[in-house]
Amino acid sequence: ADEKFDAIVVGAGPSGNACAYTLATRGLKVLQLERGEYPGSKNVQGAILYADALEKIIPDFREDAPLERHIIEQRLWMMDDKSYCGAHYRSEDFNEDKPNRYTIIRAPFDKWFSRRVSEAGALILCETTVTELVRDAHDKVIGVRTDRDGAAIYADIVVLAEGVSGLVGARAGLRSIPKPDTVALAVKEMHFLPRETIEARFNLQGDEGVVIESAGTITKGMAGTGFLYTNKECISIGIGCLISDFTNSDQTPYGLLEAFKQHPSVKPLLAGSEVKEYAAHMIPEGGYKAIPQLFGNGWLIVGDAGQFVNAIHREGSNLAMTTGRIAAETILDLKTRNAPMTANNLAAYKTRLDESFVMKDLKKYKNLPNAFHNKHLFTTYPQLISKAAQTWFRVDGVDKKAKENEILKSFFRTRRVKGLLGDVLGMARGWR
Ligand code: FAD
Repeated sequence: ADEKFDAIVVGAGPSGNACAYTLATRGLKVLQLERGEYPGSKNVQGAILYADALEKIIPDFREDAPLERHIIEQRLWMMDDKSYCGAHYRSEDFNEDKPNRYTIIRAPFDKWFSRRVSEAGALILCETTVTELVRDAHDKVIGVRTDRDGAAIYADIVVLAEGVSGLVGARAGLRSIPKPDTVALAVKEMHFLPRETIEARFNLQGDEGVVIESAGTITKGMAGTGFLYTNKECISIGIGCLISDFTNSDQTPYGLLEAFKQHPSVKPLLAGSEVKEYAAHMIPEGGYKAIPQLFGNGWLIVGDAGQFVNAIHREGSNLAMTTGRIAAETILDLKTRNAPMTANNLAAYKTRLDESFVMKDLKKYKNLPNAFHNKHLFTTYPQLISKAAQTWFRVDGVDKKAKENEILKSFFRTRRVKGLLGDVLGMARGWR
């Protein structure tokens, strides 16, 4: 317990692993603490891995990381109760030497990442929960206490990579706990099928993969989305909505998932499968405006703990890894210059983040969470679009001009000019 580390990293998810790995490979003495039985045991993700973020940390990750399928086709579905209206993009270009996106399963993936962190020289303690931060007389964070023996462990810097709830930071008064309208609750199941069945159902060869993102009446008017991702021998399916929306409704996450699985467009994709895993987890979705203070005397926040999720693009783990890497690079820079880990010096972390795609993207969508507090986006429009598509595609003796008029009228009749304008402006403001 008297040992002092250069850095303590709280949490062994993608943000903590990225940070610990980057620090350890550059020779720093790193202690990483993880409350789970093993890294990944507590973690849930869809999961799509964005190669670019990991490649910047471990360039050769493809050699031994447990990857499922590389994604060659992206489907976006807008759903009502009986239909979906989809945009699909599939390209042979995605069958490249170094694919851009993969599906993964978090438990084996996190274990692999953690092994790499350990090989890089970091000391990793699992089944160890950080209970509080230790401060000196000047209020500088100088270490942590854990549930092991309560003794203080010291370090020049503590990196909070503790995930969405941010409890350690909140307990220390560095931040507040995320509000229910900035956090989604998602549930997910793994449906096992023979790989040939998955490949036949999704028109795939070898390790090619398809991912489906969907929105519409599946969330019963609440702000949320569903997903279905192909792995080698199973399909991950899940759905999530804002916690504030669940609180104000009589819907349950599991009820939504059951209904999603029964949707006529989804059911045949899962037919005959065996469900082996069920999980629930929160996703920070407050965006730019919900980002807490990210640095202070002796501490930094990375990953989900900092609300780093780009919900509309379904990106989280890559923001986690990137913020973890940038935090480590900031620490390494200060170490090289023998500069103390003060708030003033650690402000460089925020400056680096501001220059990266992480902050640029979150800033671009800063008004989107507000725009999504509009139940018509999840009910009225999917229904109108489905009806419009049917009117258009049915050949029934009605002339095309009359069909166009009927479609336009259905939109104006349902939302009126004022409603339509408000919805379009709201989305445009969110998208800017
Ligand atoms: P986490 O992965 O949550 O890791 C935090 C770690 O800290 C955990 O291991 C936890 O056990 C540990 N911990 C917490 N408190 C303590 C403590 N006091 N002491 C010690 N250890 C502690 N992102 C994508 O990029 N692609 C996707 O397809 C995708 N799909 C998703 C689907 C679902 C259903 C969910 C829930 C999320 C999804 N995300 C996705 C988001 C992604 O999972 C997160 O952004 C990412 O896991 C954040 O990484 P992290 O390291 O910051 O936090």
